[in-house]
Amino acid sequence: MVSVDEAYRIVLENISTLPIQEVNIKEAVGLCLAEDAVSDIDMPPFDKSAMDGYAVIAEDTLSPSGTPVELQVIEEVTAGQFPMKKVERGQATKIMTGAALPQGADAVTKVEDTEPLEGNRVKILKGVEKGKNISPRGEDFQAGQVVIKRTTVLRPQEIGVLAMIGMEKVKVYSTPKIGIITTGNELVEVSCKPARGQIRESNSYSLAAQVFQARAEAERLGTARDDRKSLITAIKRGLKKDLLLITGGVSMGESDLVVSVLKELGVNLFFEKIAMRPGKPMVFGKYYKTAVFGLPGNPVATYVSFELFVRPAIRKMMGFTKLSRTVIKARLETPLRSKGERKEFRPAWLHPEDGKFFVSAVEWHGSADLLGTTKGNSLLIVPESVESLPVGQEVEVILTGEI
Ligand code: AMP
Ligand code: MG
Repeated sequence: MVSVDEAYRIVLENISTLPIQEVNIKEAVGLCLAEDAVSDIDMPPFDKSAMDGYAVIAEDTLSPSGTPVELQVIEEVTAGQFPMKKVERGQATKIMTGAALPQGADAVTKVEDTEPLEGNRVKILKGVEKGKNISPRGEDFQAGQVVIKRTTVLRPQEIGVLAMIGMEKVKVYSTPKIGIITTGNELVEVSCKPARGQIRESNSYSLAAQVFQARAEAERLGTARDDRKSLITAIKRGLKKDLLLITGGVSMGESDLVVSVLKELGVNLFFEKIAMRPGKPMVFGKYYKTAVFGLPGNPVATYVSFELFVRPAIRKMMGFTKLSRTVIKARLETPLRSKGERKEFRPAWLHPEDGKFFVSAVEWHGSADLLGTTKGNSLLIVPESVESLPVGQEVEVILTGEI
């Protein structure tokens, strides 16, 4: 039996980042950039008006006799047009937000601070300083500059910046091909009403959803029966993936054949048990480049094992540098008891109040009670040797959802 930390280390040591691929930026959100993104232009590309108003020579508007002053309007430019005329002393160009500043002008007066007059003239009611309401060329970034670094996980704002610099396609790390196999003679399809002794197969759905949330995709490869032949057929298919997730059949029962079948097929197993609750029976191995997880069958154990070990593995494959969920220190709101001998992960509700974090374990009936976990947004960590925790105790909490 290995500790949680040791299992985490072994898993990640045996996972490699996948090759780089090129994708259209429309499909790149949530992926990890595999190249430095370099701009081909200055941004803004020209001195740009930040306001609707008049491009002027600032000095004209700050006349010693005091504003208002009157200027002659020589041209009108809207966004997308380029000014043709140079602004000389005593002149102004009517300008719209986003339009290029005409030569000669060094400030823009807001339209609110002006009054149009007869005969292409304008009254400037308020003086402006040099440079006012102008976004100078290259203010945000310049041609040749690395604007987004390699290994950045692309969010919508980065996608927009990539568009600004003309990168229609980008190099990103690939997403793994993932297979999910469920096992158990008692399992029936969602569409079936379970007969006596049967239950609906739910793990492949929750796991596929967890994979989807991790920005990857999984193929559900069906349910194998608890016999060698059925398991061998399913697992052989699964071993063609980058990552194979199998649920159930990994404990000590007579029908738990997954471990021996994996060994028979030549999968190199690194550990078969982890000192944690829920989720003690969990195996991890490699078959050539394919990483294989045998997860415990109980739905909460499956869920927790994915969060702790599979999600970080997927993220490493995808080039991410932050692999684990965020851990937050919080004060316990309700007392907690634990059996003590293994590290425990309890479904919990974490929330902030007056600048501090508080947490309480949700009502939960053990590793089959998946509904219990829906009342929480986190997993509260009860350290190994601890049997009870009092109210007010500081604990570590893994944030799995929204606060
Ligand atoms: P096992 O690890 O195969 O002994 O399964 C442990 C418990 O989890 C049993 O009660 C199973 O019925 C249940 N279980 C196993 N696989 C699934 C599944 N895919 N969906 C829902 N429950 C499952
Ligand atoms: Mg089973």
